[in-house]
Amino acid sequence: MQERGVNLSEIAKVVYDLQLPYNPTLQINECLESVEAVLKKREVQHAVITGIAIDILAEKKQLPEPFQTIMEVDEPLYGIDEILALSITNVYGTIGLTSFGYLDKEKMGIIRGLNNHGKEVHVFLDDLIAGIAAAASARIAHAHPDESRYQD
Ligand code: MG
Repeated sequence: MQERGVNLSEIAKVVYDLQLPYNPTLQINECLESVEAVLKKREVQHAVITGIAIDILAEKKQLPEPFQTIMEVDEPLYGIDEILALSITNVYGTIGLTSFGYLDKEKMGIIRGLNNHGKEVHVFLDDLIAGIAAAASARIAHAHPDESRYQD
């Protein structure tokens, strides 16, 4: 992920912004720990390496048509990137799902910066980041059930 321009601290910042309204004493370190915990899960790692591999192949123009063009133009009706990212949030239940939908719409922080530009293709990576941030956010919400009662 680092090679693709993503720092874990930037994902932690998205988690922090998501959770702060429900948890005013939240620390950024807690968010970073949660991101790291999400990334330790095997199914999360599988989703990340799959999505990034497809982005890289698209940058190298090695995908068969019409997939190559779909990836280059970031075709709005192509939704498999979201589906793959949902396999990350699914691990943490409905709070993760709600946060993912919100992030997909609002494109906060690092997620906004990851649109396709020039030769770079980030069709899958932006959704993977949103999925990881949503999952890490849900983990924190589950750890503070009193504060998170308004999220469901
Ligand atoms: Mg995408």
